[in-house]
Amino acid sequence: MHPARKPVMAGNWKMHKGIHETGGFVRELVHGLKAHQSPVTAEVVIAPVFTALAVALQAVWGSPIKVAAQNCHWEEAGAFTGEISAAMLKEVGVGHVILGHSERRQYFGETDATVNGRLKAALAAHLVPIFCIGELIDQRRAGETERVLERQLTDGLAGLDAAALATLIVAYEPVWAIGTGEVATPEQAQAAHAFIRGWLEKNRGAALAGTTRLLYGGSAKPDNVAEILACPDVDGCLIGGASLKAENFLPMVEAAG
Ligand code: PEP
Repeated sequence: MHPARKPVMAGNWKMHKGIHETGGFVRELVHGLKAHQSPVTAEVVIAPVFTALAVALQAVWGSPIKVAAQNCHWEEAGAFTGEISAAMLKEVGVGHVILGHSERRQYFGETDATVNGRLKAALAAHLVPIFCIGELIDQRRAGETERVLERQLTDGLAGLDAAALATLIVAYEPVWAIGTGEVATPEQAQAAHAFIRGWLEKNRGAALAGTTRLLYGGSAKPDNVAEILACPDVDGCLIGGASLKAENFLPMVEAAG
């Protein structure tokens, strides 16, 4: 990790935990963070389901934990059944939003173009986007990882200049490592992160590349998080399964400093 970039430890709860469970769990996290011997320096973000956002926001009140949504639409309002706009998330008090997660791409037809629209809407509403990119196992085996990342970055960030992207967080999530128990090696994670930072530098300038937080996601757990976080271009983690239990998530947050 780099001293100029505040680490981010974000929990993606996916379709887990309703209102009741969220309230209790967030209170447990708040209490757990307070109980740490040294103050936690990482930015801690949790992403509950839409229906539990308000409860989570109430429960984190007065604590450093921030609340994210797991998606938002590109329009402000309209005939888009089942969708929610960035302005609506902002209105409820949410500060961050996960966009382009591989499960959205895989199961819900999300493309680089739709992710780009959602990103633009999120930034316009002053939400901090956690923009997810990553290659499939076949693409890695075929030596196409960088080509895939380049396409996702080029198309996902199209039309957004460095000023617009000032708050951007990128999550590198190799799809083959998500929820599989198979974690990228520190060398694989560092190589992908260095590539992403290099792309940002080449295409949006050194200043943005130097300040953008790059998170690793894919079966990060208490026993592998330290070596991932030790990579110079890894600035935190996006954590799925291991974020659902305080006994796993809290030590990972602590590991980030
Ligand atoms: C994720 O869903 O973003 C993720 C990284 O999941 P897991 O940690 O369970 O692999």
